[in-house]
Amino acid sequence: MNDSLKNIASVLQANSQGDADITGVAFDSRQVKIGDLFVALVSEHDGHLYIQQALANGAVAVLVDDQHAITPDIPAIIVPDTLLALQRLGQYRREMVNPKVIAITGSNGKTTTKDMTAAILSTKFKTFKTPENYNNEIGVPMTLLSMPDDTEVLVVELGMDRPGQLTVLSHLVMPDIAIITMIGEAHIEFFQTRDNIARAKLEITQGLKSDGILLVPFDEPLLTQAAVKSDRQYFGEKVSAIQALATVTTFTFEQQKFAIPVMGRYNVMNALAAISAGKLLSIDLKHAALALKNFDLTKNRTERLVTSQGVVLISDVYNANPTAVAAVLSTLKSLPARRKYVVLGDMLELGTQANHLHAELGPKILDTDVDGVYLVGSLFNQNTAPLLMSKMGVERVHLYQTDQLKQLASDLLAISQPGDVILLKASHGIHLEEVVQQLTSEQ
Ligand code: ATP
Ligand code: MG
Repeated sequence: MNDSLKNIASVLQANSQGDADITGVAFDSRQVKIGDLFVALVSEHDGHLYIQQALANGAVAVLVDDQHAITPDIPAIIVPDTLLALQRLGQYRREMVNPKVIAITGSNGKTTTKDMTAAILSTKFKTFKTPENYNNEIGVPMTLLSMPDDTEVLVVELGMDRPGQLTVLSHLVMPDIAIITMIGEAHIEFFQTRDNIARAKLEITQGLKSDGILLVPFDEPLLTQAAVKSDRQYFGEKVSAIQALATVTTFTFEQQKFAIPVMGRYNVMNALAAISAGKLLSIDLKHAALALKNFDLTKNRTERLVTSQGVVLISDVYNANPTAVAAVLSTLKSLPARRKYVVLGDMLELGTQANHLHAELGPKILDTDVDGVYLVGSLFNQNTAPLLMSKMGVERVHLYQTDQLKQLASDLLAISQPGDVILLKASHGIHLEEVVQQLTSEQ
């Protein structure tokens, strides 16, 4: 971007002092680049405390709230609420650059679908996508503000953990195409039912352009049958020959063969959502297939690592909810391996439904046909372990508390042999990444 402080202040209808040429926006003083406008947000840390540091790092102006005094020598815009101002600036940037916008939400698969969609669209358009996982009320306006001037297509991830949030984000990005990847049980603690989750996801249509299109999975009645004002299309049908292999997943869609370099059958749905969005912007299946063959995944949450002993780790330790755990268990089921072990840590934030949602995974774990199960945390220990122990035998089910990760890692090291596969999945709060780290650092 390239704008003057005075112009930005007039967009915000705000008071200002001084002037400056502004080439970017930052809210973290450590990430300020020369020419940036530093936005002082008030959250856990008060950004106003970092103004001097931001200026030292090259900020040429600051956006502050009217509760904080600012010396007259610093070029500044003064507003009642800096977060609202950041969002308004993002909206302004969206209007100025005016790309086609594809917005993606859903309980799981947002980032993956975002990366796949951007890969497909960039075969034909100058495409910009949400960096990493910046999908909240700060990340979304920052995404808009960091979009290059010549962006033709923006693929933006919208996160949601409470009702009303997607209404705000959707109005910020004003999508031409809105995708809901799926409805799971993420954040059910707050929402109580999947129906409520679906309703909150459908808020993505609030800012959808009047001629915009909503894309939803064909097999989710909560989305296919809900009343919506927008034009709705479906993805996920007409797919055949799905093969989920260790490092690649293949399938055929409308006679076109696809091979995507990620594991997990669920990624076929993510890919089909991306392919459908591509079709709406006239990318043919051949080009989509080429793009997906080598697409660039932001940060593969399901990582495949091989230890120095030749044990394969499938590490997915940054989030866990019942649908995501079931999805990764079916991936494990289809993998060839000498022996298979699964390490599951508690799924957090499930509220009053936590007990039965952990219990419900019992049969799915049994169906995965593994040689040993390692459960971490009281929810799995209490609700899931009894069934597993009675069906698999106590010697194949191992229980740990959350402070016994070192013990868990050394037990896994002791049992595993070259050619074995160990799947590790848990909510981030369990910190299974420490176990992964121990297993991969052991020589
Ligand atoms: P976050 O809310 O953390 O941003 P996200 O929605 O962006 O998550 P991804 O990062 O794409 O999701 O994927 C996270 C995990 O969710 C994957 O590793 C996998 O376990 C699971 N997952 C991804 N896609 C699906 C899907 N379509 N159905 C079920 N589970 C999925
Ligand atoms: Mg994400």
